[in-house]
Amino acid sequence: MIYDLHTHSTASDGTLTPTQLVERATAAGVKVLALTDHDTLDGIPEGMVEARRQGIRMVPGVEVSVTWGGRVIHVVGLGIDPDCEQLRAGLMSLREFRSWRAIEIARQLEKAGIPGAYEGAKALSGGHLIARTHFARFLVGQGIVKELKSVFKHYLVRGRPGYVAGNWAELGEAVSWIKQAGGQAVVAHPARYRFTHSKLQRLLGEFREAGGEGMEVVSGSHNREDALAMARHAKQSGLLASAGSDYHGPDHTWVELGRIPELPSGIAPIWNEWPAFVS
Ligand code: AMP
Ligand code: MN
Ligand code: MN
Ligand code: MN
Repeated sequence: MIYDLHTHSTASDGTLTPTQLVERATAAGVKVLALTDHDTLDGIPEGMVEARRQGIRMVPGVEVSVTWGGRVIHVVGLGIDPDCEQLRAGLMSLREFRSWRAIEIARQLEKAGIPGAYEGAKALSGGHLIARTHFARFLVGQGIVKELKSVFKHYLVRGRPGYVAGNWAELGEAVSWIKQAGGQAVVAHPARYRFTHSKLQRLLGEFREAGGEGMEVVSGSHNREDALAMARHAKQSGLLASAGSDYHGPDHTWVELGRIPELPSGIAPIWNEWPAFVS
């Protein structure tokens, strides 16, 4: 049974529509797929329709941008009610920040000699929210940077042109929106933050205190060593383990949908207590 509980569509910074994503997931053998777009629920209705058609289960989800300890972290919500007003209002405020930030990013890139970035990123976003990924694709498309990954070394990050400090949700706020929507909150790709052991323990402690239930142990951004380390953290913090590719589309060549390594043994998967899925 393949669970892929972290994926993106064109509703945020993925390149496949929710329909295409579900089709590809089905072809990859995924049986339970969570659509977890950044700060929006817009892709969920279309994804649910296609999942029903394909006979796989879609878990409605979201990936909330959070500022914690002076850094940006991500909290995934799984099994949320997409009609929940509190969650919708919270995400709306994050998207307002995104709109403002996109203009600021473009202004900085222009000063660095790169004009037209706002229009470029906006076009690539298809009128949905604008993420740094859209700017990254624009810079690659313009031939300014060779690869998507290297954009995040030379641009859009602290100390480089196009960096704008985040002003995202507080950790407790994000967890409470997800809980009010009836979902389970999960810390996304925790190894990617490269926190010290004690800082990560502090994050996970505060997260659990706020009502968070899980953390990604297996992730497209974790290697095996990361997964084993995160499994130990999950045990130590009393959190359930989640697994997701963080798929963004075929242009992110380093991850594939549904290619999810096994969870390390001895930890409880977050889906253990979910109702059984019968297709
Ligand atoms: P944002 O939420 O708009 O600040 O954009 C963050 C997004 O940028 C992440 O969700 C990733 O999709 C993308 N991203 C960040 N760092 C990298 C990286 N090193 N390589 C590729 N994509 C990245
Ligand atoms: Mn992304
Ligand atoms: Mn993320
Ligand atoms: Mn993600």
